[in-house]
Amino acid sequence: MQDIASKLEHFNSIIPENITLVAVSKTKPLALLQEAYDAGQRDFGENKIQEMSEKYNVLPKDIRWHMIGHVQGNKIKQMAEFVHLVHGMDKPKRLAELNKEAKKFNRVIDCLIQIHIAEEDTKFGFSYEEASELLRDDLSSRFPNIQVRGLMGMATFSEDDAKVSEEFRKLASFFEQQKKENHSSYFNILSMGMSGDYHLAMEEGSTMLRVGSSIFGSR
Ligand SMILES: *Cc1c(COP(=O)(O)O)cnc(C)c1O
Repeated sequence: MQDIASKLEHFNSIIPENITLVAVSKTKPLALLQEAYDAGQRDFGENKIQEMSEKYNVLPKDIRWHMIGHVQGNKIKQMAEFVHLVHGMDKPKRLAELNKEAKKFNRVIDCLIQIHIAEEDTKFGFSYEEASELLRDDLSSRFPNIQVRGLMGMATFSEDDAKVSEEFRKLASFFEQQKKENHSSYFNILSMGMSGDYHLAMEEGSTMLRVGSSIFGSR
């Protein structure tokens, strides 16, 4: 088995400068995160707020922590002090909740609107219609302590590349359209692509990949 450093090196060799690699370290022990950190990795993704804050407490403070999972409203306060980017904003009321906790730390927290692009109905997120409606609002005056930086999506778990690509393409085109209408130059992150489909996501215009098992091994 290859070590984490060589896997990261491989990813960094195939990913252009303008795409961010988030190393998804959920369920993995601290030693493996430290190994990735020592190899130069700074962006880490977790899907449970509790686990992320435990890791934050003991690992180097220049790590950028990404909350990629479903956000529970009552746990937001545990990450408000340090989280770098919240990918999974999947309900209108999450924006108000995150804004409230960010204010307590005098921060402006970056976040992404999660769009439901897969056919499975187990995955969270806004429909395109709901997201358009939300993004038409003047969110920065309603929620001055958060900044909507873009969109996040998870494609259907499928062997059918054409189908996965099509879901990514549709999300990317919605992203481009919103970017035009959104008036903020901060709206520039499109988080899509995981271990099984990052190559397709890159082809369709992803700016941020969330890769776990291909770096840290299967869970
Ligand atoms: C676990 C997870 C990933 C990474 O999945 P891998 O298949 O291990 O690369 C990416 N995004 C989200 C939202 C996840 O929960």
